[in-house]
Amino acid sequence: ELVNINELFNYVLNRFDMILKKDDHPEKTYTIKRKFTKRDLWVDLDTDRFTQVLDNLMNNAIKYSPDGGVITCRLYETRNKVILSISDQGLGIPRKDIPHIFDRFYRVDKARSRQQGGSGLGLAISKEVVEALKGQLWVESVEGKGSTFYIALPYEPIKEEDLWDEV
Ligand code: ATP
Ligand code: MG
Repeated sequence: ELVNINELFNYVLNRFDMILKKDDHPEKTYTIKRKFTKRDLWVDLDTDRFTQVLDNLMNNAIKYSPDGGVITCRLYETRNKVILSISDQGLGIPRKDIPHIFDRFYRVDKARSRQQGGSGLGLAISKEVVEALKGQLWVESVEGKGSTFYIALPYEPIKEEDLWDEV
C-alpha cells in the first residue's frame, strides 16, 4: 500500500516516547530528536513489516547506548530515494564486526551482548524486509562513538506533468 512515511516514522517514534514514560526500558533514559523533511513522502510498503524494521533499529539504538543517550532520527529524500536514519551515541561497532552484524544470530562480543538479551535476528530480518522493497539497509559506526543505521527506499517523486491535466 502507498504509505506516508513521515506519519509512519512519527507514529513509531511517538510510541518510543511513550515507552520512555512507561519505563519498559528500565534504568534507561533516552531522548529522541527528529529531523524530518517538511515534504510528505509516500512509499509503497507493508506498514506492519516496515514498522517492525523501525522498532528493531530503535530498540538496538536504546539497548546499545548508555543511559541518557540522544537518538537522532532523520527523514529526507534524494533524487530517487527516501532515506531514513537512526543515529545513537552508543557503544559503536568494531570495524571487523560491521560486515557480519546483518547475519543471523551474529552478535558483537558475546559477553557484552549476553546480559542485554536478544537473539541476534533483528538486523537479519530487517535487512530481508528492506531488500524485499528493493531498498538498502546499512550502517556507519565508530567504536566508542556511536552508530548510524540507514534505510534507503526507492522513491518516485511526483512529477510536475502528473500533477496537471492539460486542457
Ligand atoms: P534481537 O534479535 O533481539 O534484535 P540483537 O539486538 O542482539 O538481538 P540484532 O538486532 O540483529 O540482534 O543486532 C546484531 C548485533 O549487532 C547486536 O548483538 C549488537 O552486537 C550489534 N548492534 C546492533 N545495533 C547496534 C547499535 N545501534 N550499536 C551497537 N551495536 C549494535
Ligand atoms: Mg536487536
